[in-house]
Amino acid sequence: MNPLIPRKIHTPKPYLLRLEWADGFAATITTEELRKACPCAHCKGETIMGRMVVAPALTTFKPGMYEIEGINPVGNYAIQVGWRDGHNTGIYPWELLREVAADKALDDAQLDKLHAREQAEHSTNGAS
Ligand SMILES: [Zn+2]
Repeated sequence: MNPLIPRKIHTPKPYLLRLEWADGFAATITTEELRKACPCAHCKGETIMGRMVVAPALTTFKPGMYEIEGINPVGNYAIQVGWRDGHNTGIYPWELLREVAADKALDDAQLDKLHAREQAEHSTNGAS
């Protein structure tokens, strides 16, 4: 079995993704970082023979773009992530997931900050 395949992938919060591997490595990242790491040609542009043939899309904020709609396995090498803004062409190979998780893992202080922000947003809901 490929050791890079996460043992567990879940979303403890709509904006958080938790990944756990059999080797004991685990990380929580924001769904925003996952979206930013989207490897599809639309988001990252496409380079053929060192020449950029498709420029990366401009990152204008769309509602739902950081909210995961669904995660589907692709063969046994990747997951495909669908987002609430309708974007679903991103295929994340295990190597990339592990890389993003290691690179963008949130520590407890950052998680606390996000929870505090979430609570603040809830308490001001309807006031805008
Ligand atoms: Zn993409």
